[in-house]
Amino acid sequence: MKVKDLLNQKRNDITLVAVSKTKPIEEIKKKYNEGLINFGENRVNELVQKFNLLPKDINWHMIGHLQTNKVKKIIPFIRLIHSVDSMKLIDKIENESKKFDKKTNILLQVHIAKEKSKYGFNFEEVRDFFKNQLDESYKNINIVGLMGMATLTNNKNQIRKEFKNLKILYDEIKSLSQKNNQKIKILSMGMSSDYKIAIEEGSNMVRIGSLIFGERD
Ligand SMILES: *Cc1c(COP(=O)(O)O)cnc(C)c1O
Repeated sequence: MKVKDLLNQKRNDITLVAVSKTKPIEEIKKKYNEGLINFGENRVNELVQKFNLLPKDINWHMIGHLQTNKVKKIIPFIRLIHSVDSMKLIDKIENESKKFDKKTNILLQVHIAKEKSKYGFNFEEVRDFFKNQLDESYKNINIVGLMGMATLTNNKNQIRKEFKNLKILYDEIKSLSQKNNQKIKILSMGMSSDYKIAIEEGSNMVRIGSLIFGERD
C-alpha cells in the first residue's frame, strides 16, 4: 500500500487524512483540487484560519492536543476531534456542542507509546469508560473510536506491537458498546513513517503529513 494508492482511493475502506499543519493555503488548495477532502491540523488558531479561507466542503480534523478554552472555536465546523485525552475535555466538548445544538464526533486518544506523555488515556481508563457505558451518557458527543501514536523509533516490532495492542482495545470497546449501537467504527493510527504497519494492524484512518506535503520546516 503506497500513499499514491491511498490518494487514488484504491482502498476506500481507509480514510486518508492529509495533515496540513504549517502548510500554506495554496498548497492545501492544490491537494483539494486533486481530490483530497480530509485535512488535519494540530493548532486551533491555524485550523480556524484555514477553515475560513478554504472551500467549505473540506472535512477538518483536529489531531493535536486541544485546550478546553479553545474548544468552542472549532465546534461549529469540526468533522472529527482525534485528540480527546481527558474527561475534562470530553465534558467541555459536550457543553460547547450543546450550545451549538450539535453532536460532535470524537475519538479517545490512547497512550500507546513508550515515551512518557501527559496526553492520552491509558488502556484501563478506556476499558472502564465503556464498561460503565459512559459513552452513552453524553447527548452532544458521538464517540466513534480511538486514536493512538506509536513510539518514535526505527524498531518496527515495537511499533507493530503498540498498534496491535490498540487494535485489541478497539475491538474490545466495539463489543462493549455493541449492545447499544454500532457507533465505534474509526481506528485512527499511522503517520508517514509507520502507516503501512498501522494498516496491516487494522487501522482504517491514517494521518499523513510529510509524505503528501513534503517535510515541514
Ligand atoms: C504531525 C502529525 C501527523 C503527521 O505526521 P507526518 O510524519 O508528517 O506524517 C500525524 N498525527 C499527528 C497527531 C500529528 O501531530
